[in-house]
Amino acid sequence: MGSYLCEKLLQNGEDVICVDNFFTGRKENIAHLLGNPYFELLRHDVTFSLYVEVDQIYNLACPASPVHYQFDPVQTTKTSVHGAINMLGLAKRTKARIFQASTSEVYGDPQVHPQPESYWGKVNPIGIRSCYDEGKRCAETLFFDYHRQHAVDIKVARIFNTYGPRMHPSDGRVVSNFIVQALQGRDITIYGDGSQTRSFCYVDDLIEGMVRLMNTEEGITGPINLGNCGEFTMLELAEKVIRLTNSSSKLVFKPLPPDDPRQRCPDIALAKEKLAWQPSVSLEEGLKKTIEYFEGLSDT
Ligand code: UDP
Ligand code: UDP
Repeated sequence: MGSYLCEKLLQNGEDVICVDNFFTGRKENIAHLLGNPYFELLRHDVTFSLYVEVDQIYNLACPASPVHYQFDPVQTTKTSVHGAINMLGLAKRTKARIFQASTSEVYGDPQVHPQPESYWGKVNPIGIRSCYDEGKRCAETLFFDYHRQHAVDIKVARIFNTYGPRMHPSDGRVVSNFIVQALQGRDITIYGDGSQTRSFCYVDDLIEGMVRLMNTEEGITGPINLGNCGEFTMLELAEKVIRLTNSSSKLVFKPLPPDDPRQRCPDIALAKEKLAWQPSVSLEEGLKKTIEYFEGLSDT
C-alpha cells in the first residue's frame, strides 16, 4: 500500500519522504519512483526516533500478514507502539497532521456484524494475533491521547482486508496464496472449513479513501472504517480464483489458526458521509488485475 500511496501523493504534487525498513516492503515496488526529484527514500525503522521536517505523516508501519507479524511478535508490538510514539512525537514537534493505518483487527473476532466504528471489539489479549491487534489498539489509544493532551491533528482509519498487485507471492495472506497456488496448479489451502468470511478491498479504492480522510477538515479524527462491503467466504474466494485462472487446482483443508475471526465486514456509513467515499472495484475486477500481476512475475 505504501508504494501506491507514494505514487498518489506525487501525482497530487506533494514532496514525499518514503520511510521503510524493508521487512516486508520491497524496493522493486518503488524502484520506478527513485528518479523523481520529489521522492526521497529513507531506510529506517520507526521504532527509532526520526527527525525530518514534514507537514503530513502517514503511519503505515507494521507487517500486516499473520505469517509476518507472528514471525517476531515482540518486534510487531514495538513497531506499532514505539512506532506510534515516535511518529506522534514527530507530529507534535513539526505540527504535522498525522494519519494512522489502524485495522479491522481492532474488532477481533466480532460479535457485531457488520462492524461499525462504535463497536469496541472482542480481542484476545494473550493469543498469537494479539501482537498485531493489541499493538494497533494501543496505537489508537496513543493517537487519541496525543490529540487530547497535545492537540495533535490526527486521522485514524480502520483498514479492512486489502489486496492488489505488488503483494509478495509469499505474503501469506489468502488472496495472494490462492492466486499463486491456482497459477501453479498446486492445491488451494483452505484453513478450517472455509466458511469464515472476509471483505476484500482493492488497493486503489483504499488509497483514495486514505488520502480523502487525510485531507478532511480539522476535527474529523476518525476512527473511520475503510473497506469493501462485499463479504465472501474463503470457499467462495477459492472458487472465484480457480475460475478466473482456469486452474485445475483442488481444495485441501488445513487446520484453522487460533483466534481466526469467523466473520468480517465493514460498516462504511461514516466514510460515505464524511469522505463521500465508497469502493468502486468489485472483487472479480480486482482479482483479475491481481492475477495479471502474478502471471507477469517470473517466479510464479
Ligand atoms: N520523536 C521523533 N522525532 C521528532 C520528535 C520526537 O522521533 O521530531 C520521538 C522521540 O524519540 C520521542 C518520541 O518521539 O521519544 C515522543 O515524543 P514526545 O515529544 O511526545 O516525548 P518526549 O520527547 O517528551 O519523551
Ligand atoms: N486463509 C486460508 N488459506 C490461506 C490463507 C488464509 O484459508 O492460505 C484464511 C485465514 O484462515 C482467514 C482468511 O483466509 O480466515 C483471511 O486470512 P488472511 O491471512 O488473508 O487475513 P486476516 O486473517 O488477517 O484477515
